Amino acid sequence: MDRFNRLADELQVGSVALALLAERVGQTPFYAYDRALIAARIAAVRQALPPGVCLHYALKANPMPALVGFIRPLVDGMDVASVGELKLALDAGASVQSIGFAGPGKRDAELRQAVAAGVLLQVESERELRVLAQAAQALGQSARVALRINPDFELRGAGMHMGGGAKPFGIDAEQVPMLLRSWAGDGLVFEGFHVFPGSQNLRAGVIAESLHRSLALVLRLASDAPAPVRQVNLGGGWGIPYFPGEKTLDLAPITDALAQVQAQLAQAQPAARLVVELGRYLVGEAGMYVARVIDRKVSRGQVFLVVDGGMHHHLAASGNFGQVIRRNYPVAIVQRLRTPQHETVSVVGPLCTPLDLLADRVDLPVAQPGDLLVVFQSGAYGATASPQAFLGHPSCLEVLV
Ligand SMILES: *Cc1c(COP(=O)(O)O)cnc(C)c1O
Repeated sequence: MDRFNRLADELQVGSVALALLAERVGQTPFYAYDRALIAARIAAVRQALPPGVCLHYALKANPMPALVGFIRPLVDGMDVASVGELKLALDAGASVQSIGFAGPGKRDAELRQAVAAGVLLQVESERELRVLAQAAQALGQSARVALRINPDFELRGAGMHMGGGAKPFGIDAEQVPMLLRSWAGDGLVFEGFHVFPGSQNLRAGVIAESLHRSLALVLRLASDAPAPVRQVNLGGGWGIPYFPGEKTLDLAPITDALAQVQAQLAQAQPAARLVVELGRYLVGEAGMYVARVIDRKVSRGQVFLVVDGGMHHHLAASGNFGQVIRRNYPVAIVQRLRTPQHETVSVVGPLCTPLDLLADRVDLPVAQPGDLLVVFQSGAYGATASPQAFLGHPSCLEVLV
């Protein structure tokens, strides 16, 4: 987090002092995303990836249009999970060849839109295959299909599990052989497989193991494929540290695993590209959420800082976006980094609910109304993953700096 220049007298985003940026934005609360940090993170991932492994950006982590436009030329493709995100990716100039569309519950009309666009459909059910075949027929344009597999193993250590056991995501691995053997062809072009076992994983060894097991599964299933495999997407889910004691992900075991997996894949399926799709890892650490202190109250000895932002903009920081145990995101008071007087405070938002808690009993410099509070690690699953309409407070702005 020293990338945010915490040690300077004032916090900065890009090279703009945060207090000045707040004046430029004209309101609090807002999210600020740092272009240079995003570019540096993507460059570091590319450096680490074995040559030839494709890097995709999963838009749902942060679909701000300017940010998507900024990232688009830095990655090899975009993964979308709705027609809204599909539009964003296309508007940003992503080529249809490089876009994958995943997600359960794709409606008939959405599947048809995706076929018309010509993007790769990551198919999550037998029904989707049927609807795609009809859409291909109706449009006179074939549908590009990869099967998203719900693996027959579970990934330990992920913050959110999205594969293994009974899941609404993907097609159970054991159902795939029959599906492939009865592949009718009618307008469906088989391109490959997709496995996404889970999000926010900080255990590199577990991610590496999952890559090996996912590839073994894919190669097993590929023996029934109606055409050579052209793409194998083994998901993202690389985590970032949020809480005390959490460490930055060690990429070495992951890149070793990717190199081995890629070599195996090249041997067994020479036409196949290997894809990793990352959301949080590319953008999560490059964003901060900024709110202003409205009030400082003492209730029976406990100090509360009431700020103008909260869970309606930043559900994750309130602990209500998939966390099992509520823990505090890193926070700071922008103008008081050198203030020697500290106190234990709880930072709460303006919503009439005890869930609107941004930081629970943290040590912060003594702050006053008017000060800016910043929540770090806020570049992913922030603004669009929060219930902005809840309680009718103003929505937040987002800026890319
Ligand atoms: C959410 C999602 C991602 C991105 O996950 P991160 O944990 O942000 O890397 C990738 N692929 C699919 C299919 C997803 O649903």
